Amino acid sequence: MISYDNITLASFKTSWLPDTIQAAMLRLDKLHPEISGNKWFKLKYNIAAAKANNDNGIITYGGAYSNHIAATALACKEAGINCMGIIRGEEHHQHMNHTLKMADANGMDLVFVTREEYRNRNSHETREGLYPDYHIIPEGGHNALGAKGCEEILSIFPTSEYTHILCAVGTGTTLAGLINSAAPHQQVVGISVLKGAHYLEKEVADLLKSGQHADWKILHEFHGGGYAKKSPQLIDFINTFYRETGIPTDIIYTGKLILAFSELVQHGYFPNGSKILLIHTGGLQGNLSLTPGVLSF
Ligand SMILES: *Cc1c(COP(=O)(O)O)cnc(C)c1O
Repeated sequence: MISYDNITLASFKTSWLPDTIQAAMLRLDKLHPEISGNKWFKLKYNIAAAKANNDNGIITYGGAYSNHIAATALACKEAGINCMGIIRGEEHHQHMNHTLKMADANGMDLVFVTREEYRNRNSHETREGLYPDYHIIPEGGHNALGAKGCEEILSIFPTSEYTHILCAVGTGTTLAGLINSAAPHQQVVGISVLKGAHYLEKEVADLLKSGQHADWKILHEFHGGGYAKKSPQLIDFINTFYRETGIPTDIIYTGKLILAFSELVQHGYFPNGSKILLIHTGGLQGNLSLTPGVLSF
C-alpha cells in the first residue's frame, strides 16, 4: 500500500534566501523509493478507473528514461493490475537502462516501438486494434484523472498560509491539479523544463475546472537549454542546495525548479513577506543516469 506517512513539509534556509522570504518544501519524493512523487498522484485515479471498469490492464507510453514508466509499473504491481509500457525509440536491443530494468522487474510488459510508430500512438486504429479493453494513460499521465489526483497534493498538510506555490512543469498535469485546488489568494507558478513549450498554457487550461481559481502562470526561461539538458552550473547548484538544506533534487525537474527559484528570488520576483511552497515532485531515480560521484548524494 502507498501511504502518505513519509511525506514531509518543512521550511528551509539557504545562503541566497533573504529573511524577508520564507520557503518550504513539500517532499513528495519521500512518498516511496520507486514511485516518484507526483507520478503516483497522476496514476491513482487512472488505476482506480481501470479496476472499476474491469479493464484487462493499463497501457501507457514513455521514453526509456521516463519517471512515469517506472512509476506506472510499480503502481500497477501494487494495485494488482497488468500493465504494458510502449517505449519510444529503437535502442531496445542495445541496453536496458535502470528505468526499464526497474519497470520490467515490477512486471511491466515493455513494448519497444520506432519513433514513427510512437508518434502515431494516438491514432484510433493503433488503440482499438492493438489494445482492446485496456485503460490508456497518455504519456506523462496527462489526463483529467491525472489532474484530479494532483488536486490532493495541497491537502496532505495545511498549505493555505503560503502566498506562492511553485512546481516544475513537464506536461502541466500536476500544475493543473495544484491550480484547481489552490486557495484564491495563492499564486501558482510553474517552471517549464522544456524549451519553448508555449502550448503548455492551453494544455493546462484544458484541465482546469470551470469557475474561479487561483492566479497561475508558467515561466518559460528556466529550461536550462531544454529537456534533460544539464549544465555544470545546474549540477553545482544541486550539490550546493543539498549541502545547505539536506534536500536532494533531480537533474531534469526539481533541480531546475530550485535553480529557477533562486534566480527569481535574486531578481526580486517575490514581494517581502512572501511564503513560498515548493513542490518536490520526486524524480530522483533519474539521477541514476549520471556517472557516480557527479552528485554529492
Ligand atoms: C514528470 C515529472 C514532473 C512533471 O509533471 P507534469 O505533471 O508532467 O508537469 C515534474 N517533476 C518530476 C520529478 C517528474 O518526474
